[in-house]
Amino acid sequence: MKNLYKKKIIVSGAVGRMGKTICKMVINEDSYELVGAVDVIEQGNDIYSLLGMESKEELYINNDLVEEINGKKADVVIDFTNPEVVMKNIEKVLKTKTNMVVGTTGFDQADLKKVRKWANEYDTSIMIAPNFALGAVMMMEFSRKAAQFFKQAEIIELHHDGKMDAPSGTAVKTAEMISESREKPKEKVNKKFIEKLKGARGAKLDDIHIHSVRLQGLVAHQEVIFGGEGQTLKIRHDSINRESFMPGIKLAVNKIEKLRGLVYGLDQIMDI
Ligand code: NAD
Repeated sequence: MKNLYKKKIIVSGAVGRMGKTICKMVINEDSYELVGAVDVIEQGNDIYSLLGMESKEELYINNDLVEEINGKKADVVIDFTNPEVVMKNIEKVLKTKTNMVVGTTGFDQADLKKVRKWANEYDTSIMIAPNFALGAVMMMEFSRKAAQFFKQAEIIELHHDGKMDAPSGTAVKTAEMISESREKPKEKVNKKFIEKLKGARGAKLDDIHIHSVRLQGLVAHQEVIFGGEGQTLKIRHDSINRESFMPGIKLAVNKIEKLRGLVYGLDQIMDI
């Protein structure tokens, strides 16, 4: 007999650019049920109306995440909010022993250490991924491989002008992967080099320069450029709309119960 159980999902940051796309995806997915839409704006308004979707039911936006989890007996909370509030949200959710899928960016190593501790303490699973686009994960993986053969690499990440942090989590993770997969090259110090305008060479992680572009019309894009003797290699990924993140989010939601503690990066569950 067909398994009729639907995963009960709460979306935190439901009214945001990503949140709305995720709510639509959850509503349209047969094996999921959207049981809560949490945001600090549009409180009391019906999420279906906000999404312009026809529905016999109504689901009101609430700003109290814990109240929603306890009231709706959620299986998973998906959080796409912002770097300033996400740590508080994670602590609250894990304390209720509910599993989490997090796409909000801006975590540093100290944050991840705290999250790992909470997940172990409350015996929950949490997946945090700086990029849920499967193609972006491949771009990072190919960059890791290419790094073994090229001494130099620079990253250009391009996002819409509403993005609240820079560089992107994807750029930082890519730089870390490149850095880990090769012998650190001796940096050429060009004593005659003059930085005419501060920041012209971008930010730096180890010896990898990261350039952040923020413009209207963009969604999420990244190009990794490798330089070697007489050749360059470019590896590029483009998310042209927010649907590009949905297959990765579904993969994480479907696997979350089987994971343990904190899992960082979608590559960890893609068998690549
Ligand atoms: P957005 O600003 O459009 O949406 C964020 C939403 O969170 C807003 O509606 C805001 O009101 C809400 N919010 C703020 N504080 C809150 C709180 N305490 N509780 C609940 N909701 C709260 O941003 P966006 O473009 O949707 O992006 C959201 C996050 O996701 C960002 O950190 C962005 O970098 C990240 N992102 C990640 C991926 C990925 O694949 N991992 C992809 C795209 C965006």
